[in-house]
Amino acid sequence: MPDFLTEAQSKLQQQADTLARQLSEIELGASNSQQVQLQTTELSKDAGVFALTQPVKYGGLGATALELTIVRDALGRRNVGHLPGIFGPNPGLLAQATEEIKQKFLEPYLAGETTSGFGFTEPSDAERHTWAQLDGEELVINGAKSYVTGGSNADFINTLVELDDVGPAMILIETSRPGVELERSFSSVDGSHHASFTFTNVRVPKSHVIGEAGAGMTRALEQVNAVRMAIAADCVGLCSFVCTLVADHIESTNPSDKNHATRVQFGRMRTKAFAARSSVYRTARLIDADENSVNEVMASKILASETIAELVDTAIQVVGGEALIDSHPLASIFRRIRASRLAEGPTDVLHANISRGYLDLNLGRI
Ligand SMILES: Cc1cc2nc3c(=O)[nH]c(=O)nc-3n(C[C@H](O)[C@H](O)[C@H](O)COP(=O)(O)OP(=O)(O)OC[C@H]3O[C@@H](n4cnc5c(N)ncnc54)[C@H](O)[C@@H]3O)c2cc1C
Repeated sequence: MPDFLTEAQSKLQQQADTLARQLSEIELGASNSQQVQLQTTELSKDAGVFALTQPVKYGGLGATALELTIVRDALGRRNVGHLPGIFGPNPGLLAQATEEIKQKFLEPYLAGETTSGFGFTEPSDAERHTWAQLDGEELVINGAKSYVTGGSNADFINTLVELDDVGPAMILIETSRPGVELERSFSSVDGSHHASFTFTNVRVPKSHVIGEAGAGMTRALEQVNAVRMAIAADCVGLCSFVCTLVADHIESTNPSDKNHATRVQFGRMRTKAFAARSSVYRTARLIDADENSVNEVMASKILASETIAELVDTAIQVVGGEALIDSHPLASIFRRIRASRLAEGPTDVLHANISRGYLDLNLGRI
């Protein structure tokens, strides 16, 4: 097996592939998105995939980084990894909150009764990062967050806040608190929905600090790292999907023209897909070995997101105008993956961080 998977990992890959096949069939016949989500969750539970992102402590399967990569790659390969409902709610940062917060917020969240957002990005013209001052047993928060995915329906936002005299802290802020204003709801080209918020003298109990106050940036980056790996694995799965689609196109339109330039383009696509996919699997193994892999996660996210962008663009060029019809899978992937080069860190920012990792901190591998 070229991916050097164990028997159990190969089995998981097959389960994910079977699920992906089933999902691609319901997606084809989909009429109602809520019904699709319910069906997706049901099939995912049957396939043993739904609980993979949930820690054992919370009744989940607590999958390793490699297992999650295998599954996301397999789902991407059949172009279904983006469907909502495949994975159960993940405690994320809340797993590090106080018992009081866990009981109040985590349990209903894991039961699917509430939803949350992640507040990190700020308006580019903000005079000051969102900040908080301690006032007795409460924190008083001011500032703004400009791009909270799922924010319009979120019951609470895990928000990165600069705590005066302490440093960055992740703070849970309910959207119903006085002073929290949903400023704007918007959707992006990939079809996802977001909101921007302002915070004006918002008061929350100081127990709402998630994890150690002052270590908020580290906490936030743990979550960002996990999402970067998820994006990377989905992108490399899509690279395989796009390569297969182009191979089918070549075989059905020009099978005997062995020297056609398209074949060279196709070879380039496969080479790039191979490099990106190899890097994502190697990084997943580093994470599971408990190695410092922040830089490798950034490199994998860059390689995977830039490669799928290039591949889908080339594939559209090869297939022609048909590929730009809204319902064509390439048109849909083209729209969906554009965000992956910006979300969870733009490529240039990640490049600068990798450079800093090596030059200033002596971290990161080749
Ligand atoms: C679909 C989607 C979902 C998102 N969901 C969330 C969410 O849930 N929560 C959240 O907090 N945010 C979210 N974001 C926001 C996302 O994290 C930011 O868009 C991203 O981090 C880039 O920040 P920015 O938009 O402020 O752009 P900027 O940081 O201003 O970047 C714009 C350009 O400037 C370049 N640049 C900036 N700084 C540097 C530097 N130091 N060196 C070199 N080049 C640089 C970048 O490469 C980029 O080309 C989401 C974005 C998208 C597209």
